[in-house]
Amino acid sequence: MAFFQPPKSPRTLLLTTALVCAPTLLLGPDAVAAQDQTAAPPLGDGKVVVYFLDHQFLPTEEVDLLRTEVSAIFEEAGLTLEWVIADSPRRDLHPNELRLIILPSDGTRWFHGPSNVIGIAPHDDAGTGKNCFVFYRQAIWFRQQAVFRCREAIQARTEAQIRGVEVNPFIESYAPANCGDYLPALTALIVARAAAHEMVHILLNKLDHSGGGLMRNSFDIGDWFTQDNSLFRLDANEIQQLQERLGGAPNER
Ligand SMILES: [Zn+2]
Repeated sequence: MAFFQPPKSPRTLLLTTALVCAPTLLLGPDAVAAQDQTAAPPLGDGKVVVYFLDHQFLPTEEVDLLRTEVSAIFEEAGLTLEWVIADSPRRDLHPNELRLIILPSDGTRWFHGPSNVIGIAPHDDAGTGKNCFVFYRQAIWFRQQAVFRCREAIQARTEAQIRGVEVNPFIESYAPANCGDYLPALTALIVARAAAHEMVHILLNKLDHSGGGLMRNSFDIGDWFTQDNSLFRLDANEIQQLQERLGGAPNER
């Protein structure tokens, strides 16, 4: 494959990477050609196998955080995630299997236009994709915006205090006084919620978005400064559809 040919010059490497990467991203890694028939996991028992391919080499704590958050989101739908780290079978994946691939940045920008995309779940010729991509650089960007916002709010509060005036009410909605508490875990949380969003697209073969919750079409920076998890959770309809496809007991909270 062109990937492994030694580049003649840095320029050639750039071109090769660009051209080879793109169809790979759209079609998925050898999903149809390879026929390595390993034992199929049982379906309908509410188990989802996640092949986690981390091309960003995230720190262990960040991987732990993101796995915990993604698992919690699906737990509420009665689904149990089984994580397979750094491995993926070379065969068609079953309906309860998918790949979660963390990439440093969005290599498919040429195809879908906007540059603020944090994740995609491309659909292949058969109508169902099995690869969820999350772009780490966009999560970093997202967190940085939250940092800026938090810092501005802290400055505004400090200035109001020095002047002995009330803090502008707008600042409360802009970033709460405890916004700094959210920042350390934020990158992992952003990646996790983007990942879970893309995973639902794959598991439900769902192309559209919902009005709110995890499956809305975009996340806002202000959403990160709240303990309100419902902003990033599945709605009753999505939970029902997941259970119909994958089994699993409803999880009453
Ligand atoms: Zn989406």
